[in-house]
Amino acid sequence: MWRFSVGGMIELEGLTKRYGEKVAVNNLTFAVRPGIVTGFLGPNGAGKSTTMRMVLGLDHPTAGDVRIDGKHYDQLKDPLTYIGALLEAKAWHGGRSAYNHLLCLAQSNGIPRRRVREVLETVGLTSVARKKTKGFSMGMGQRLGIAGALLGDPRILMFDEPVNGLDPEGIHWIRNLMKSLAAQGRTVFVSSHLMSEMALTADHLVVIGQGRLLADTSMADFIARNSKSYVRIRTPQRELLLDVLHTAGITAVEAGNGTLEVDGGKAEQIGELAARHGVVLHELSPQQASLEEAFMQLTAESVEYHAHSAAPQAQPAEQQPWGEGWRRS
Ligand code: ADP
Ligand code: MG
Repeated sequence: MWRFSVGGMIELEGLTKRYGEKVAVNNLTFAVRPGIVTGFLGPNGAGKSTTMRMVLGLDHPTAGDVRIDGKHYDQLKDPLTYIGALLEAKAWHGGRSAYNHLLCLAQSNGIPRRRVREVLETVGLTSVARKKTKGFSMGMGQRLGIAGALLGDPRILMFDEPVNGLDPEGIHWIRNLMKSLAAQGRTVFVSSHLMSEMALTADHLVVIGQGRLLADTSMADFIARNSKSYVRIRTPQRELLLDVLHTAGITAVEAGNGTLEVDGGKAEQIGELAARHGVVLHELSPQQASLEEAFMQLTAESVEYHAHSAAPQAQPAEQQPWGEGWRRS
């Protein structure tokens, strides 16, 4: 598959990492493309950081392969000009200033000195550039890490849980930065354990659970499948309403606690039908199923699958997390 790569691609093929008995990353195959933000979503311990470390050659695969534009990380000439990364928050070499930290990084990677000022400006650390990083807050540390990732003006950027420890203003800033980097045609690969965070940032979504690939889909598609709208109804005249709806070709299903549910956004239509036929309604409320719920269901099933089944078994469509079954459980 490497022959067909275009610039800025990360490609994983059967990527696997075992630590003793533990399979941290299990046979992952997917590609990360330029020009969009790709979200890498999974609960804590799913294998996101391990995968990202393997992209950078900091950890070696037990099996499979990961390449950047067809090459292993250690085959890249001046790797910081290909891919910049922010890995998990680390302690900073306290004695150095932000400026000197970046200058060392630039000098040891053949990057012009002027880039140091540019990236400090980009991440908003210019005013504290000469201060020792020892006194930096977590948020400032994250900004400095991002400055380091941007230093080589790379085509690919990879961020591991970048919003951890940031205040709302910092989170907002990082989201916009990622979007603007993608809009410049760069490849942006960002991990998070929060669906809500991904929904606001990512154009494409790769979901893993227990090291396995669970979804590789556009964000729009994931939302369309998962955040279904429906209408909840309560009425003391259940049979009459069911009749009226049935005649109008609308299917209502029993949803527990004496409520009925109708898929789609048909609240107005249902209200008008009820009024026309004199049906009393105690509730008529449009609802939206949450993406967070869909994500939890998706990953919970991967846990269950590992715990209970010896042989892989196809799940019936209605039990897929994006099907009908999960919402009412
Ligand atoms: P995530 O970043 O999605 O939270 P990680 O990649 O950090 O997940 O971890 C995946 C799994 O691999 C976890 O169960 C973790 O405990 C295990 N793991 C990660 N690094 C090591 C290591 N160096 N030695 C042993 N187990 C590890
Ligand atoms: Mg991690």
